[in-house]
Amino acid sequence: MDHPQFVEHDEPEDVFTLLSDDNRIDILRALWNSDDLMTFSALHDAVDIRDSGQFNYHLDKLVGQFVTKTEEGYELTAAGWQVNGAIEAGSYTAKGRMEPIAIDPPCPACDGSRTFYYENEVARVECDTCDVRMEFPIPPSTFVNCNREDIPTVAGKYLRTTIKGLDTGFCAQCDGPVERTACHVTDSSLWDSSVDDVDQQLGNVSDMPVVEYECLQCGREPTSGLPFSLLTHPEVVGFHYDRGIDIRRRSIWEFTPFGTEHAQVTSNDPFRASVSFIAGDDKLTLIVDEEITVLETTVTTTAE
Ligand SMILES: [Zn+2]
Ligand SMILES: [Zn+2]
Repeated sequence: MDHPQFVEHDEPEDVFTLLSDDNRIDILRALWNSDDLMTFSALHDAVDIRDSGQFNYHLDKLVGQFVTKTEEGYELTAAGWQVNGAIEAGSYTAKGRMEPIAIDPPCPACDGSRTFYYENEVARVECDTCDVRMEFPIPPSTFVNCNREDIPTVAGKYLRTTIKGLDTGFCAQCDGPVERTACHVTDSSLWDSSVDDVDQQLGNVSDMPVVEYECLQCGREPTSGLPFSLLTHPEVVGFHYDRGIDIRRRSIWEFTPFGTEHAQVTSNDPFRASVSFIAGDDKLTLIVDEEITVLETTVTTTAE
């Protein structure tokens, strides 16, 4: 059977040249803000270009790539929605830095306090005591109308959505197809081999399992802690749900992505890693392979 053929039909620079004019951005925004298809005259009225010839000229440039023209009127194409979404997201710039914010749930690896930083559109969560830290890009538009104390929670939800997207197979940057593999943190692109005095509290660092993603389109290789990818697994959701916990409502900061007490590579050939989740006196342990297929689950309890 033939595969569907998708070819890149325009040079990327030609596409961006199309948007190098404020009038065209105004047209995209008018369509973005409209609930329905817009007729030629409604669109013309919504955009501040008096000269009909000029208006026509700019609209024509957008038709095909970013705007669809039908008998009823004009609307954005999928690319039009996406590019305008990026424009809206980028219209809030986070210059400078936000004052650090303390995060409520303590570090799951060492019980220490943690701090949330947001700088240059990158969120960073650091344990004040041990070496557990993570960072991820997040657009400032995410925090519009957000109270300062809610920012870490909102950032956590954003991170969860990003990981869910990657696990479903879509790149957060370009929507291209993503492949994922579980591996040792030392084999991931995250690993900085110059760091050799990592805190002993984390156990043997080389045994930490991570998920390495690779976008087949843009080549980006984000890395995430293996437990995060398992938060959507039915066994994990069910284990918590049976104990009165709706995992979707829990802050992602309550789950540790790193720390060999909770996640550990147990075998190299074949690759096996174990991840545990704790709810009250009960502990769920999952064994996964390289493809993050759950091979085995056990529940143990410390209660009498
Ligand atoms: Zn810690
Ligand atoms: Zn990509």
